[in-house]
Amino acid sequence: MSSIKENIENFTAQLPEGVQLVAVSKFHPVEELAEAYEAGQRLFGENRAQELVAKAPQLPADIRWHFIGHLQKNKVRAIMPHVTVIESVDSVELLKLIEKEAARIDRTVEVLLQLHVAQEETKSGFSVDEVLQAADDGLLTCYPHIRVCGVMAMASLTDDMEQVASEFGLVRRTYLTLKDGCFDESEDFNHLSMGMSDDWQVAVKYGATLVRIGTAIFGPRKY
Ligand SMILES: *Cc1c(COP(=O)(O)O)cnc(C)c1O
Repeated sequence: MSSIKENIENFTAQLPEGVQLVAVSKFHPVEELAEAYEAGQRLFGENRAQELVAKAPQLPADIRWHFIGHLQKNKVRAIMPHVTVIESVDSVELLKLIEKEAARIDRTVEVLLQLHVAQEETKSGFSVDEVLQAADDGLLTCYPHIRVCGVMAMASLTDDMEQVASEFGLVRRTYLTLKDGCFDESEDFNHLSMGMSDDWQVAVKYGATLVRIGTAIFGPRKY
């Protein structure tokens, strides 16, 4: 089996310029994250608030933590001191709460708007209609402590790569609609986070700038 260091090196060598790797470290112990850090990795993704809050203080301070899971409202305050990007913003209510908590500790936080395009109902995110309506209503751009940096999405869990491609295509079109519409004055709105271990190549074809990779780097998760 190849080491985490080798996996990171092989993976980053394959990524086109302009695409960054978010190493998804959920369920993996801090020793493994430290190994990835030694290999030069600085962006890490976690999907549970408690796990992020427990791990962050044990690792170097220049790690940029991306929160990628469904964020419960009562967990926003806990992650706020640690997180660089909240990728999984799925409602206007959550945006308002993030604004309040960021203001409370006088910081600015970057976020991505999560879109729900997959077939599984269990996945969270704005529907395309919801996010465009929120944009029209001016509810995505009125937060002094938030920089909205783009869109995040997950495709359906399927081997059907045409289905995956059509979903990533929809994400890209929605991203561009938002970019030309309510974010046309924004210097921040430049990111498309999509693609995981099994579908990142398709995501990159559709313009992903961030790929979120767990298994292909750290191996299978032990839940
Ligand atoms: C777990 C997870 C990933 C990584 O999945 P792998 O298939 O292990 O690469 C990416 N994005 C999100 C939102 C996740 O929860």
